Amino acid sequence: MSLFTKFDELDGRRRALLESGSKPFNVVVERIISPTEAIVNGRQTIMAGTNNYLGLTFDPECVAAAREAVTREGTGTTGSRMANGTFASHLALEDDIAKFFGRQFAIIFSTGYLANLGILSALTDRNDVIVIDGDCHASIYDGCKMGGAEVIRFRHNDADDLAKRMRRLGESARDALIVIEGIYSMLGDQAPMSEIAAVKREYGGYLLVDEAHSLGVLGERGLVEMADEHASVDFITGTFSKSLGATGGFCVSDLPQLDLIRLSSRPYVFTASMCPSVIASTRTALRVLQQRPELRDALWRNANRLYAQLSSLGYELGPHPSPVVAAVVSDINEALALWDGLLARGVYVNLVFPPATPKGCYLLRCSVSAAHTIEQIDKICAAFADAQKDFRASTAA
Ligand code: PMP
Repeated sequence: MSLFTKFDELDGRRRALLESGSKPFNVVVERIISPTEAIVNGRQTIMAGTNNYLGLTFDPECVAAAREAVTREGTGTTGSRMANGTFASHLALEDDIAKFFGRQFAIIFSTGYLANLGILSALTDRNDVIVIDGDCHASIYDGCKMGGAEVIRFRHNDADDLAKRMRRLGESARDALIVIEGIYSMLGDQAPMSEIAAVKREYGGYLLVDEAHSLGVLGERGLVEMADEHASVDFITGTFSKSLGATGGFCVSDLPQLDLIRLSSRPYVFTASMCPSVIASTRTALRVLQQRPELRDALWRNANRLYAQLSSLGYELGPHPSPVVAAVVSDINEALALWDGLLARGVYVNLVFPPATPKGCYLLRCSVSAAHTIEQIDKICAAFADAQKDFRASTAA
């Protein structure tokens, strides 16, 4: 066994993919034109897998704030807050986020991945139990692993299954940490927030909700607010890389221990902190999110339209309309043919393979933006229709 033996299987799968002529992992966005368009493979392409829900990456106010901050404070912090010191703008963003969620404490991290990793690994150790929805994001699984807690998975979005597992824990349920997401990243479905909160109230424990895909999408603040469940939720984590169009992550809570996590969380202590331009655009985007509800209206208009049209084409989708609209495909050849067909027609979507997908399926995952025009949504649908026709013709032949 050499150091690299472990790559053999992966290499074989990659070769097979390349020999089939499909290059889903080699896409280069040669030039980015707008929140919804780019040059890919030399042609103008509609970007339909960006998570840029409110389309703010080119918002003039956000761009101006970033430009002003980079000129004033430089390109980077060049180290962690523990070592190099906290910039005033880190505190200002934490203050904005805490106030936005109506919570006492907020910590920001350099990415959303690090927020989940940093909170879960610091909050729990091998004496603890974490009960997570089976479809939780990799950052949640990795955070659990890093802390070393016992991890119990419950069936996706099944509050009864959660209740069963909490019941089995007996006394220790009172200190267990339950982790769910507001909107699940792969199929775009929402957690049954009130049912899960009711289980938490019955058995005790703590509840953490990752609002990465729901912040600014489900109302202003995500699912916890929409379901009016703030009182039952102890921690909210999320990212600045989706609706806020930047990078970075956060956790908010009313528990004063959150502040102690700064001292013990390795993904907080041992990595460079958010840079000034990113902080500035994030703070501006947070204001824009609150001042321009019409962006959310446009997002949902587009999401409903894409969902309805793909559904009428016969694609199997998530259970309800959402800004994440993913076509579920069980066969790898079909997934590759459709993805290639879409790209050849100037539409880029995410091709997602197991194990990142639920139940081992393949996904042609679209994420809709407020910045997509109706014409772009219709072009995406037309490309799905034509790619499907071509695939059916090729398999019938
Ligand atoms: N949580 C969830 C549910 C996610 O889907 C993602 C990213 N896709 C993250 C956390 C990590 O966010 P980031 O990209 O900011 O690291």
